[in-house]
Amino acid sequence: MLTAFLLSAALTTPILPPAQPWSGASRALVVPASDQWVTPAEATNFRTTPRYDETVAYLRKLVAAAPQLKMVSIGKSHEGRDIWLVIASKERVFTPDALRRKPLFLAQGGIHAGEIDGKDAGLMLLRDMTVRGTKRELLDQANFLFVPIFNVDGHERFSRYCRINQRGPEECGWRTNARNLNLNRDYVKADTLEMRAMIRVLREWQPDLYADLHVTDGADYQYDVTYGWSGGSGWSPAISAWLEDTLRPALDRGLRAMGHIPGRLIFTDDPLTAGLVDGAVDPRLSTGYGDARHIPTVLLENHSLKPYDQRVLGTYVFLEHILRTLAREGSVLRAAIARDRANRSASIPLAWRVPDSDTRTIEFLGIESRRTLSPISGEVRIEWTGQPVTARVPFRSASEVTASVTRPAAYWIPASWQEVIEKLDLHGIAYERITAPRDVEVEMTRFGAPKFDAEQFEGHVRVTAPATTERRRERYPAGSVRVSTDQPLGTLAVLMLEPSSPDSLFQWGFFNSILSPTEYVESYIMEPMAERMLAEDPKLAAEFLKKIDSDEAFRGNPRARLQWLYERTPFYDERARLYPVGRE
Ligand SMILES: [Zn+2]
Repeated sequence: MLTAFLLSAALTTPILPPAQPWSGASRALVVPASDQWVTPAEATNFRTTPRYDETVAYLRKLVAAAPQLKMVSIGKSHEGRDIWLVIASKERVFTPDALRRKPLFLAQGGIHAGEIDGKDAGLMLLRDMTVRGTKRELLDQANFLFVPIFNVDGHERFSRYCRINQRGPEECGWRTNARNLNLNRDYVKADTLEMRAMIRVLREWQPDLYADLHVTDGADYQYDVTYGWSGGSGWSPAISAWLEDTLRPALDRGLRAMGHIPGRLIFTDDPLTAGLVDGAVDPRLSTGYGDARHIPTVLLENHSLKPYDQRVLGTYVFLEHILRTLAREGSVLRAAIARDRANRSASIPLAWRVPDSDTRTIEFLGIESRRTLSPISGEVRIEWTGQPVTARVPFRSASEVTASVTRPAAYWIPASWQEVIEKLDLHGIAYERITAPRDVEVEMTRFGAPKFDAEQFEGHVRVTAPATTERRRERYPAGSVRVSTDQPLGTLAVLMLEPSSPDSLFQWGFFNSILSPTEYVESYIMEPMAERMLAEDPKLAAEFLKKIDSDEAFRGNPRARLQWLYERTPFYDERARLYPVGRE
């Protein structure tokens, strides 16, 4: 019985490493429980976070009392919940054009609904900007858009078993949406209703800065607020430079002044040994998508092992200082955005690595760990001791481009690929639609044998394939579209339509149907045909014999031998594995 008791206790109480004592100046931001505008999280001293209905009720009450605020639904989730956006404007203007007279900041909480710090920080900040008035000046020089809960259905999969590695709140929501899809892999393929709603917001409101608010998984260290963006070797170098040179110092100063410990993003379980690596991010993720469409995008990752109040208050200070920085530097940021939107560089990078020459180091505020052999796993077990340790660790940047594509003048998409054209519409990529058939000289991609992933990923069976290119004169039927890359979203179009791009619609499996042959030949037909071909074409016969001599597998495979010849008849599908999107 004792064993059973211990086991059930272990299963209901997360076993977290020791917390560091903390009493930052940001604690002064918390209002007492007696305050009429106390937020639900403050009211329980950050032991809990409110459910969807309670959050919406608090916001409705706030909006009713604060003329600077308006709430709009940006769309509904798969389970039919509204995704709410709160607009904060001192001038009480609530249209995209009017809001963009000042720098416009969009922050979203709960893309991973268990990581919900952003929601509770945003409720406090909206209150302090309006009815309480202690942060009213934040709206003098900037406007604020806030989505408290992005993954609304995941948020309502609410339990104490939401995040095994997170120190509060007591209960919270789930990472994925109602269809078990991770919204932070959905920015390009946009399968989910939630992501389609958010992309419409980005397209229509055009924020000057977009913050995606998370909580980490992984190692222990001293930092409570870690944040970053897609590194400067990506698709928006001017924006990345502004984020690094202007935003980071301002945020670090603001966070430190309020007793927080800001740091860079850490994506390793062993930072004291492995160090940190900075780099560009695929556009399926918020920061990579922002980079691809030239919206400055900041990823906040609060440290999951810090207590909930410390994380929420860190988020509050983080949002506050983004607004303060935008107020001061917004015009400089807009100039950087304009430079990146005007950029038409001929070569578009797709993959990077850390160059050998990068031997930089950084001072790292770590936590000591102890390694012992585990009799349970038979592997080395890491225990974080809670002891702070400062060390110099490698800090490298994946800045060397290892794969890229050249930007064509345009892509041609046949009318039959309507769902691909609809993705362009969603992202706001412009194109010209032809109303009569047109013959166009294009470069096309012919795939070799495709390699499908053994497992589905995010609802798709992803695929890659070797490719060769050929020039063809193609007839595009009426309704086909020409997508010029000479547009601000030209780079995003390249990333979606080039099959070698990891987030291309091809690799996500949208074009899988073109990868199988659809006509066949029987051997009683092919045998006499082959006889005739080999007799009439000595060059072909020599090639065939050479293949038999040099390729043992081929020699021993009767079907392959006939197939090789079938592929050289005019009956063979001349469009087999031909990618239908042409490059002009
Ligand atoms: Zn997350």
